[in-house]
Amino acid sequence: RQQRLKKPEWLKIKLTEGENYASTSETVKAHNLHTICSSGRCPNIGECWGKGTATFMVLGEICTRSCKFCATHSGRPLPVDREEPSRVAQSVRLMGVKYCVITSVDRDDLPDGGAEHWAAVISEVKRVNPSTAVEILIPDFDGRGDLIDTVLAANPDVVGHNLETIKRLTPSVRSRAQYDVSLKTLKHIADRGAVAKSSLMLGLGETEDEILEAMDDMLAAGCRLLTLGQYLQPTHKHLPVQAYIHPDKFTELKEIALRKGFKYVESGPLVRSSYMAERAYEGMINP
Ligand code: SF4
Ligand code: SF4
Repeated sequence: RQQRLKKPEWLKIKLTEGENYASTSETVKAHNLHTICSSGRCPNIGECWGKGTATFMVLGEICTRSCKFCATHSGRPLPVDREEPSRVAQSVRLMGVKYCVITSVDRDDLPDGGAEHWAAVISEVKRVNPSTAVEILIPDFDGRGDLIDTVLAANPDVVGHNLETIKRLTPSVRSRAQYDVSLKTLKHIADRGAVAKSSLMLGLGETEDEILEAMDDMLAAGCRLLTLGQYLQPTHKHLPVQAYIHPDKFTELKEIALRKGFKYVESGPLVRSSYMAERAYEGMINP
């Protein structure tokens, strides 16, 4: 059995809660919403909720896939909740955010993978909050362009799909997802003129060359927004951390990615795809 690595100093986060933490938490609870912030055990929850931002997770909290890095429950999901679009839209209004991030579990049980529901959520959030930008983080829909188009028709401002890890490690890290299908998904998003965003977790055993190769593949697919963060093992049943990447390396990789052609890169040990998403979007449209 592999020995666990000791967590370095830079990952010992201060559990500060900003002034809006309690009200964000209440809004989320009162509307019976799921957030990836809490179900994904995100280390930034104090900071993000404190600033009044949260990443909503739609289509339930049970995923049909079971990736080896992810803390979301897997199993048979509940039926789609048709009231969810309206509850998310009202929560965005109550939280008063000008930028919201929405993600979902994978719903391989649904014939359309949840695409219609996704479109309904985006449309309702935009209808109720016309000045709020909407970033979505979507599943691969098995690379089906028609389903991705259903989602894109609701006009999200940024469309994320995470590559999560480098090519060689994909089969052992992700479930059902394939590296090439994720690239195809990103390409489809970018080809339709939408802003495509993606993310890699580092510390799973990848080499630097493999990271650079993944960057090139994402760029070739048309992706221009990138986040890089440290993989953290959510429970002992998940994949162990192979390496804690030094913050200076994250900075170096960010510079390389920008030189390669990404328009904006958020890179650091605690960065997650939705971390500082508004700043990334602004940085991309006003470089
Ligand atoms: Fe939530 Fe994203 Fe912030 Fe984590 S980084 S707390 S998932 S908004
Ligand atoms: Fe987690 Fe994988 Fe399901 Fe996404 S598809 S919610 S990463 S188990």
